Amino acid sequence: MQVKCICLTWLARADLSNLNSGEGSGNLTELKTYDRGRKPYVSGQATRTALFETMARSHPEHFKCTAELPCADVENCWGCDLRGYLATEEGVGGDRRWSPLKVSPGMGQIPAEIVTDLLTRASVVQKEGKESKDNRIAHVQLTENIYKFSLVIDTANVGRVQVPKIEGKGNKQRFAGWDTAVDISPEQRIERINAVLDAVFNLSGFAKQARASASMAPEVILISLQPTYNQRGIKALELNAEGEVNLQKLQSMIEEHKAMGCDVLFGHTPGVVANDQQLVELLEKQNIEIMPVYAAFNKAKNMLAAGV
Ligand SMILES: [Zn+2]
Repeated sequence: MQVKCICLTWLARADLSNLNSGEGSGNLTELKTYDRGRKPYVSGQATRTALFETMARSHPEHFKCTAELPCADVENCWGCDLRGYLATEEGVGGDRRWSPLKVSPGMGQIPAEIVTDLLTRASVVQKEGKESKDNRIAHVQLTENIYKFSLVIDTANVGRVQVPKIEGKGNKQRFAGWDTAVDISPEQRIERINAVLDAVFNLSGFAKQARASASMAPEVILISLQPTYNQRGIKALELNAEGEVNLQKLQSMIEEHKAMGCDVLFGHTPGVVANDQQLVELLEKQNIEIMPVYAAFNKAKNMLAAGV
C-alpha cells in the first residue's frame, strides 16, 4: 500500500502530574481543565512543542532553526518541514507552510479530584555581593489521569511543497495546476516519518516535567496506515468515567478502517484501561494482533518502508 496518512491515537497514564498548567493568580498554578473543571487537559500547542523537542533531542543536526525564526528550508530543515511556519522572507518553500502533522490536545479522560499541593522552593540569591535566602511557597494543582492524544501524519506532504502555477499577465492570469517546488526522496521521507514515530514512542519534554516526571508516551495505541488522508480515526479509544474504553465506538472505527483499506496495528500495555479483557477480546475477534507498544511501532515502520 502507498501510505498517504498515518493516524495514531493513544492513551498515557500520568500520576499526579502537572503538565502544561496555565499561570493562575499569585502563586497558584492552575491546571487547564474542561468538562466543567472535572477533567484536565494538555493543550495541543504544548503537545506539539513536546513532540518537536523530543525529536530535536535525537536529531539536533536536522533542526536548522528555531520556531520563532524559521529558515523556510523544507528540503533540509526538519523543523520547518514538520512544524510548518510563517516566515518574513520567502524561502524555496514559500513564506508559509501548514504542518503535515496534526496534533490533538491531550484530553484527561476521567473526572477526577484536583489536588492542591504545596511546594517550597528555597534558593540562595546573590545580591550586591551578599547572599540571602529566598523562600517561596507555590501551590500546584495536581491530578492523576489517563490522557488521550492523537496525531495524524500527512505522509505524502512530508518534505514536499507544491506551489500554484499562474500563467498569463494582468487580468488574463489563470491557475495552471501545481508545481512541485520541493520533493525529498522516498528514503528521506521515510527517515523523517520514522523520526516522528520515534518521538511519539519516546514522548517527553513537557515544560513541567523536570519537576513532575511524567511521560506522555503511549501505553495503549492504535496506529492506522491509510491509503487516503483523513482524521477519522482520532475518536477511537475514548474512555468513560470508570476508565473503560468505549468498545462500540472502537469496533465501528476498526471496521470502517478495514473497509477503507487501512492497516490497523494495536500496541498494548495490560492494566491501563479498566475493561482490558473485553478490549483484548474485541481485537482478537477483529483479527488484530495485540503487540507490545514498541512492536506496534516497529511494524508500522516496516510496513511504511515496504509501501514505497
Ligand atoms: Zn528551519
